[in-house]
Amino acid sequence: MDMSTPAFVQGTKKLLIGGQWVEPASGQRIEAINPATGELLCHIAQGDAQDVERAVAAARRAFEGPWSRFTAHGRRKLLLRVHDTILDNFDELALIETLDMGAPLARTRGYKEWLSQLLQFYASQTGAGSVATSPMSIAPNFTALKHLMPVGVVGGIIPWNGPLMGSWWIYGPALATGCTAVLKPAEDASLSSLRVSELMMEAGVPDGVINVVTGYGKDVGQALAEHRGVDRVAFTGSVGTAQAIVRASAGNLKRLQLELGGKSPDIVFADADLDRAVPGASMGVFTNTGQVCVAGTRILVQRAIHDEFVQRMAAFAKTIKIGDGREPGTQIGPLISQRQLERVMHYMEIGGQEAELVHGGQRLSGNLARGFFVEPTVFANVRNDMTIAQEEIFGPVASVIPFDTVDEALQLANDTPYGLAGGVWTRNLSTAHTVSQGIRSGTVWVNCYGVIDPAVGFGGTKMSGYGWKGGKEHVESFLYPKATYINLD
Ligand code: NAD
Repeated sequence: MDMSTPAFVQGTKKLLIGGQWVEPASGQRIEAINPATGELLCHIAQGDAQDVERAVAAARRAFEGPWSRFTAHGRRKLLLRVHDTILDNFDELALIETLDMGAPLARTRGYKEWLSQLLQFYASQTGAGSVATSPMSIAPNFTALKHLMPVGVVGGIIPWNGPLMGSWWIYGPALATGCTAVLKPAEDASLSSLRVSELMMEAGVPDGVINVVTGYGKDVGQALAEHRGVDRVAFTGSVGTAQAIVRASAGNLKRLQLELGGKSPDIVFADADLDRAVPGASMGVFTNTGQVCVAGTRILVQRAIHDEFVQRMAAFAKTIKIGDGREPGTQIGPLISQRQLERVMHYMEIGGQEAELVHGGQRLSGNLARGFFVEPTVFANVRNDMTIAQEEIFGPVASVIPFDTVDEALQLANDTPYGLAGGVWTRNLSTAHTVSQGIRSGTVWVNCYGVIDPAVGFGGTKMSGYGWKGGKEHVESFLYPKATYINLD
C-alpha cells in the first residue's frame, strides 16, 4: 500500500455547501494535527452560524427540489454507485483517517468489508417509505393510505473517534429515506468525512443532498441544534453536549437521536474460557486506545479468578504493540489530542490513588513522546463507587472489579448512570441468558465484545441516550408516518 500522505491532505479544506466547495464566512481555519507525531497535516475551515444558514438552505432546496423526485429505485442505484466509489478509494480513506485521528491502519482498513455491508444495507432500505393500504374496519366505504415520509433536513453532529463510520451513520439512512443532511464532523478529526463527501459528489449525489460544515461545536453544532430549518439532529458525543442540544432544539421541537457515552460492564464468570475472555475483554477496553463509546471499561470478575485474570490481563497488555498507526503490526495508536491526553493522565492519577495499579499508567516516551501515547492500563480490586469506575475516561484504562454472585454482578453492572453496552463471559447457558437479560443496556455481547451487524445495529438507554444505529429502527427514525383517509363514496 502507498503510505505517502494523500494529496487530499494539504492546504486548507473548504466547506461543502450546495454542491460547491466554499470558504467559511469567518475566513478562519483550524489546524488538523497528526496525533501520532504532533505534526500539522493541513487546515480545515472554521465554519460558523452563517455557514450553517447557507448549508441548511441548500439542504432544504435539494430536499424540496430534485431529490424529492428520486424514486426508491433511483436512491438505491445511487447508493450502490457511492458504495463502489468508496470501496475503490478505501485505502486512501483509511490512511486519511489514520493520519487524522491515530487509529492503526489495521483498524481503519479493516473496516472495508464492514462499511461495504453497511452501505449495501442502507441501499436495501430505500423502499422503507412504501405504501400500506387496507380497507377500513370502522367504515367499509373508507380506505386509508399510510406513507412513511422523509423527515426533511437532518443535522448530523459526530465525534472524532471514528469519523468515517460516523459520517455513514448519518449519510446511510439520510440517502436511503430521501432526507438531506448537513454534517458537522468533530474539529479534531474532519478529514475523512470531507474526503468521503467529495467522493460521494463524484459518484453523483445531487447538489445540496449532503453538505459539510466543519468547525467548533459551540459555533456550528450549536447553530445546527438551534436552527428551525433543521428537522432532526442525529448526535453522537458526550452527555453534556447532548443536554445542550436538547435545550437548543426546543425552538422547533426537532426530532433528536442521541448516542452518548458509557461505562459498560464486561462480566467474567469463573467458568469462562479465559483463553478467549482475557484477550476479548482486554481489547474490549483497549481497542482504538479506549476511545470507543461501547468500551467495556468495568471488567467485573468473579472473585475466585480475580487474581489470575488480572495477572493474565497485565501479561496480555504487555504484548500490545503501541505506535504510529502507519507502522505494520501496530495494534493501538495515540489518543486524539493533547487535551484528551491530559484528561486520561488525570484519571490514571486518580486510579493510582484509589485502586491497585497492575499495569501501565504512564505516557509513552522515547520516539513516541511527540505523539499522545499512553500505556494500556489495568487497575485491580476496584470498587464500583470509585471515580475510575463511575466516570467515562475515553482512554485505555480498565477497572477490574471483583464480585461473588450473579445477583451481585448484576447489581454492580447496573449501578451506573449509563446504559450503552455490556458483556458476559461464561460457558453456562443459563448464566449467559440471565445476565444478558439483566444488564440494563441497549446492547450485550456474550463470549465476544464489540461486534455490530449493520442490519441489527446498536443503541443505548438511560444516560447513554436514545435512538438506534443500524437496523430498520434507524431507517424508520429518519421517516415519519402519514395517514391519508379517503371516502370512496
Ligand atoms: P463531544 O460531545 O465533546 O463532541 C461531539 C460533537 O459535538 C463534536 O462534533 C463537537 O464539536 C460537537 N459539539 C460540542 N459542543 C457542542 C454544542 N454545544 N452544540 C452542538 N454540538 C456540539 O464528544 P467528544 O468528546 O468529541 O466524543 C466523545 C464522546 O462521544 C464520548 O462520550 C463517547 O462515549 C461518545 N460516543 C458515543 C457513541 C455512540 O454511538 N453511543 C459513539 C462514539 C462516541
